[in-house]
Amino acid sequence: MSKIEFIAQEIESLREQGLFNIIRTIEGPQGGWFTVDGKKVLNLCSNNYLGFADHPKLKEAAKKAVDEYGVGPGAVRTIAGTQSIHLELEKKLAEFKHAPACIVFQAGFTANTAVIPAITGDGDIIFSDELNHASIIDGCRLSKARVVRYAHNDKEDLRKQIREHKDSARRMLIITDGVFSMDGDIAPLPEIVEVADEFGAMVMVDDAHGEGVLGDSGRGIVNHFKLEGKVEVEVGTLSKAFGVMGGFITGPAVLIDYLKQRGRPFLFSTGLTPADTAAAIAAIDVLLESDEPVKRLWDNAAYFQKGLKAAGFDTGHSQTPITPVMLGEAKLASDFSKRLFEKDIFAQSISYPTVARGKARIRCMLSAAHTKEDLDFAVARFTEVGKELGVLK
Ligand code: PMP
Repeated sequence: MSKIEFIAQEIESLREQGLFNIIRTIEGPQGGWFTVDGKKVLNLCSNNYLGFADHPKLKEAAKKAVDEYGVGPGAVRTIAGTQSIHLELEKKLAEFKHAPACIVFQAGFTANTAVIPAITGDGDIIFSDELNHASIIDGCRLSKARVVRYAHNDKEDLRKQIREHKDSARRMLIITDGVFSMDGDIAPLPEIVEVADEFGAMVMVDDAHGEGVLGDSGRGIVNHFKLEGKVEVEVGTLSKAFGVMGGFITGPAVLIDYLKQRGRPFLFSTGLTPADTAAAIAAIDVLLESDEPVKRLWDNAAYFQKGLKAAGFDTGHSQTPITPVMLGEAKLASDFSKRLFEKDIFAQSISYPTVARGKARIRCMLSAAHTKEDLDFAVARFTEVGKELGVLK
């Protein structure tokens, strides 16, 4: 036991710093409301943007796939684990994204850690937005390329960094999140592509929070900015708006062919289950049938943000349904979240090191699964707690 004593000390240290995660248990499915630790609460924390996580059509497709294909794919995709349903999903995703080709991975996280080291290496430079997601950071660490961070969403700083470093680079790759998950702001992708073209750099965007949210019927950020064909690597996830599980990359056929040879999680880890795969196919079908869920999501977001602002809250500079309620100090944010929970609202506080010191907040994730009454209820409870804790006058 003494050999792992250091772990107990690490945990103690996390507790002392207030960084120890309390993991809540959800009973039953995701939805506008759900049961957390035995209490029914309004859910303002999930990435279930469109309410698809409990959608009847997705559930039906998953059940049917189990009968047809079994429960597990049996092997890694390159050996004996590529089932016809995987190819059907990849074809469908490529068509949906108006992209030449697609490869599906086990998660968005895995997609990032697959593609970055596959296409960059020794002698290359990756220019990475300073607020990029952890899976991009880990993907960069797995690459032998040098990483240069540029100031968040700042095209002039990006240009400056490229100018400074380009002569020592064999190839260059710019990576950005599409929608930044803590503030809800959107990457200025047209400007990034413009700078990339100026210097011959490749562009990769991680559209985890734009998939199913931005663009025509939720086709994502590249479609939103009409940049189809101008971004080399588009990463998506099936675990947020699509309501299921898995990640994917769309892009030129040559990139996708190469990732089937050199994307390590594709080669060395078993792929998606038939149930996940079928549910993801059904998610695209539902999106293609009607853009009503996407419209409802945006409508809900606008309604909620307007209500919070009218009550006097600072909702930051979000451009999407991700709604931060800026509070400042970590303790205040944490007390705020606890008080909300007592009043039947599940909305977690986010503080340092996930966001900068002094920028603690409650982050609200809106969904098409919410009703206007839910949102009125939330604004009323936020207002009560805001007054109790002296955030509002
Ligand atoms: N990229 C971003 C920007 C994300 O927010 C997330 C999820 N938190 C991921 C990638 C990982 O996606 P997944 O949950 O599918 O692994």
